[in-house]
Amino acid sequence: MPFDPLPPLRDVIAQHGLSARKSLGQNFLLDLNLTAKIARSAGDLMQCDVLEIGPGPGGLSRGLLSEGARHLLVIEKDHRCLPALAEIAEAYPGRLTVIEGDALDVDPLAHLTPPIRIAANLPYNVGTELLVRWLTPPQWPPFWQSLTLMFQREVAERIVAAPGSKVYGRLALLAQWRCDARIVMSLPPQAFTPPPKVSSAVVQLTALPAPRFPADAKTLERVVAMAFNQRRKMLRAALKGLAPDIEEKLVAAGIAPTDRAETVDLERFCALARLIAK
Ligand code: SAM
Repeated sequence: MPFDPLPPLRDVIAQHGLSARKSLGQNFLLDLNLTAKIARSAGDLMQCDVLEIGPGPGGLSRGLLSEGARHLLVIEKDHRCLPALAEIAEAYPGRLTVIEGDALDVDPLAHLTPPIRIAANLPYNVGTELLVRWLTPPQWPPFWQSLTLMFQREVAERIVAAPGSKVYGRLALLAQWRCDARIVMSLPPQAFTPPPKVSSAVVQLTALPAPRFPADAKTLERVVAMAFNQRRKMLRAALKGLAPDIEEKLVAAGIAPTDRAETVDLERFCALARLIAK
């Protein structure tokens, strides 16, 4: 592990009384070898600003800084963590900015200079919402180059799922339309303090310069949301509100009107979105 000048995380937590709060999704990573490994999976950080949501006592933040992040911006809701984060800022002069606040409300862009990567062990209660926001910006390419995110294993599998899988759906299509998405690490509950009930996984999403297949983002999102809202229905029924001639459009997109959403790949959903946007 690269040099980290700070005390072990167990001592930091004890010293600052950071007992984990379930309401804030607090499951901390205390092994700095592991957090450095997660930081390395985010790619070359040397020339990048990094945004981390929910640093807690700072295990992943220390990994990102010791692995060379040019500048790290962290947003943390729990004010009890601020003294521990201030110690990290002191140990890495000029490289860490801490914002106390709710990541759903704070606009981080004023504090970041491109190229930007995002890395986080996300609080489970806001993780999916943040991911969807990052995947559906007003413009593409987005402000970030890559997302390196810890999720519950089941959410990670939904992001990388292929057609035919039970967990294939909106998240897989949103993610894979404009990103390369893969699981880069799996972690058992015991890797965290306190251990959560389920296993976790780190997903690496790298933004593509342009979408894999052309489509209007809003139309594609609407088609996919409707298709999977009633995933057991045949698509001609699930999508009938989208266009009066939906059966013809499905056929023109290469989709059988009796197909169900989970069998349709990204390319055909994009073709359907183009026909509907016409
Ligand atoms: N990064 C630390 C680690 O890996 O050990 C902590 C991860 S813990 C799973 C999630 C962190 O997100 C907690 O520190 C929690 O206080 C913080 N958090 C929860 N909701 C948040 C929100 N809406 N905005 C910012 N931080 C939040």
